[in-house]
Amino acid sequence: MTELKWDHFSNVIDGKLVDTAETRYSVNPSTGKPNLPVPVSTKDDLDMAVKAARKAFKTWSTTSWEERKNALLEFGKAITAEKEGFAKLLVQEQGKPMPFALREVAGSEFTIKTLCSLKLEDEVISDEGGRTVTRRYVPIGVGGGIVPWNYPIGIMIVKVTHALLTGNTIICKPSPFTPYANLKIAELGQRFFPPGVLNCLSGDDNLGPWMTSHPGIDKISFTGSSATGRKVMESCSRTLKRVTLELGGKDPAIILPDIDIPLVASQVALYAFMNSGQICVATKRVYVHSSIAKEFIAALVEAAKRLKVGDGMEEGVFMGPVNNSMQYEKVLSFVEDIRREGGEIVLGNEQDTKLRYKGKDSGNGYFIDPMIVVSAADDSRIMKEEPFGPILPVATWENDEEVIARANDTDLGLGASVWGKDMERVEKIARRLEAGSVWVNEHVLTTPVAPFGGWKGSGVGVENGREGLVGWCNVQSLYIRKEVKSVL
Ligand code: NAD
Repeated sequence: MTELKWDHFSNVIDGKLVDTAETRYSVNPSTGKPNLPVPVSTKDDLDMAVKAARKAFKTWSTTSWEERKNALLEFGKAITAEKEGFAKLLVQEQGKPMPFALREVAGSEFTIKTLCSLKLEDEVISDEGGRTVTRRYVPIGVGGGIVPWNYPIGIMIVKVTHALLTGNTIICKPSPFTPYANLKIAELGQRFFPPGVLNCLSGDDNLGPWMTSHPGIDKISFTGSSATGRKVMESCSRTLKRVTLELGGKDPAIILPDIDIPLVASQVALYAFMNSGQICVATKRVYVHSSIAKEFIAALVEAAKRLKVGDGMEEGVFMGPVNNSMQYEKVLSFVEDIRREGGEIVLGNEQDTKLRYKGKDSGNGYFIDPMIVVSAADDSRIMKEEPFGPILPVATWENDEEVIARANDTDLGLGASVWGKDMERVEKIARRLEAGSVWVNEHVLTTPVAPFGGWKGSGVGVENGREGLVGWCNVQSLYIRKEVKSVL
């Protein structure tokens, strides 16, 4: 295939670049200016992709694990070789600063390599009485990978690697807010995979529901909000599709009294405001021990003040804008609710966010400075719901049992962290938190070898780790008896 062109974006179906009659565009969240046109897929485009993926599955599922792994590893190298181009797309469509965009792109090859170091092998689990029983992992078929806008490349790569390594084929659907890098990643992938193995369709709000209800798709791997996840599961139930749902979080960070206050405050600020708070496992509630609350909050405010907000192309910027106007309005609605419900905004209150946003064609972006809120009631919206933006509420606590109960008092259970030097006490608390990932003295940082998923309303199933790969397989118990034995 020829060189990637960064000024034209097509669907990728059956190894070919396919344009559509209708196009749309997303908006650069730093400038409010339109990005380039992308396809709006029709039902026919989806049918074409499903047909191609079903055909490709017949041969791809019979290739060896090694062959699939090698193709993926080459794909990973090729992404790294194009890192500047992909990172620039990410800044333009997602808004994140260039160094973080480059990190997301570099993470692709790392994710691929790490997942490719795992293997699902046949295992004889019983061998007695003239019969062996072998556990096998057999690919499911055609997968649909539905991707959100916060980490478009990182999340697409996780889905593609799981699907392809285990012998499935996939149709990816980017978020309408961030279709560019995903389409180009799929285009690049055509150099390494046979036609129909990796497809990608850009579309409007119709495309996701068409995929989840399509009888030719066998599994949906969805990452997005808990509200949409419920709709996805409902729709998938009609065709009994396999589903993995990676959904929202409201991660607590519990701060013990024996910490190094400036150090921990600076780290908590990073884990709360990185990617402008738009990380599923960002720190979204802080519980600091009352004995150090005043000093800790002051240090947290100082740390957050140092984080530069601006266009992702500018030097030294830590936080770009929030990704889109809908998200911008949602975050602002939290600010209004904090003012109404009685929390005290100790950082960011002076910014008149309404005035800074002048509409998508004004040349202004969706910028919101870091906000820190104290004294919000446990049942207030900011303590219960995920703003998915740069607002961090801080509450205080007195004893371990109480803070464990308050941290767990949520419908969500994605991540959580505990910070302290008394390791016995810290680990005791950590082990009682109801979340799929629990960190001690850090937050957010995951590894592809570890299963990642949410408890309660944060998800169903996991991605990553051996368990993530298993989620893309049918499990078969193969009973083999060499000689027929009469059972009577
Ligand atoms: P979203 O739910 O609005 O959209 C996610 C994807 O689903 C997009 O591609 C969208 O077009 C598609 N979609 C929308 N409606 C659909 C429907 N009815 N059927 C099928 N697909 C549909 O989420 P978002 O705003 O893009 O992402 C932010 C959310 O994602 C946050 O809640 C965040 O916590 C969560 N998230 C979770 C993880 C995780 O791994 N658990 C990772 C990143 C983001």
